[in-house]
Amino acid sequence: MRYVEPVFRPPSEANSYLLAVTDGCSHNKCTYCAMYITKRFSVRPQEQVFEDIAMASELMPETRRVFLLDGDAMTISAAKLMPILERLRASFPNLQRVSSYVNAISVNNKTDEELVALRELGLTLGYIGLETGDAIVNDRIVKGATIDEQVTAVQRAQAAGIKMSVMTLLGMGGRDRTREHAVATGEVLSRMDPRYISCLCVTPVPGTPLHEQVESGEFEMITPEETLDELELLLEHTLVSGAVFRSNHASNYLPLGGRLPADRERLIATVQAARRGETPLKPEYLRGL
Ligand code: SF4
Repeated sequence: MRYVEPVFRPPSEANSYLLAVTDGCSHNKCTYCAMYITKRFSVRPQEQVFEDIAMASELMPETRRVFLLDGDAMTISAAKLMPILERLRASFPNLQRVSSYVNAISVNNKTDEELVALRELGLTLGYIGLETGDAIVNDRIVKGATIDEQVTAVQRAQAAGIKMSVMTLLGMGGRDRTREHAVATGEVLSRMDPRYISCLCVTPVPGTPLHEQVESGEFEMITPEETLDELELLLEHTLVSGAVFRSNHASNYLPLGGRLPADRERLIATVQAARRGETPLKPEYLRGL
């Protein structure tokens, strides 16, 4: 219950108890990310985490979902994460799901047995920011993990039974890599085969390296209409076995949602209709960022 502001969580965790097990992000170098630039990364002492769980279990005993803060709770060793998950199970009898943002390197640093043990203790969902499948763009944005490392992390987590939600960013390749970015992102999503996919639109936030690159002209943003071209290409190249697809974040110009592969044609047709002007795009002033 003790937080270091600002605190972030995925939209789908709006009703979750947010438990701070770390503060900040252990990487904290992605050029587009402003989430934790004001925070120094640290792992919370276990006693403090246990005290927070005890407080929350008194105030919110019906808690069903818990989201572990901040940017990469999986950076904590399995030996330290497991007692936290055990304490959550013991404290919340109705607990159905524990989730967190995850970093590919942190997942890959765990053994298959550790990933299975974490899932058995309730960690059943991880959110990972792929952003791009294009290796050149991935290097430019200082993601801190290669594309292959990210694919491996998602595949290994899912093999252990941890469902993965993969986030991507339309426009992350700028104008010079727009096509490569969209096609490669769809192809990498296909290799990952996650259960959830979300497509947001890149937004340069003041204070980030990306914002400076935009200001200096080093990075050229694509237009709202061009995000539709990327979205269509990405959908065409995303061949997954079964995933919920969402492109309805506040940053998106065209809110979309459905299941892949079942709704692919409908989703693509909706994008094409918007490009023909049949569906108005969200005006800038309505985009909540
Ligand atoms: S790993 Fe995630 S939280 Fe950390 S800097 Fe990159 S995008 Fe931000």
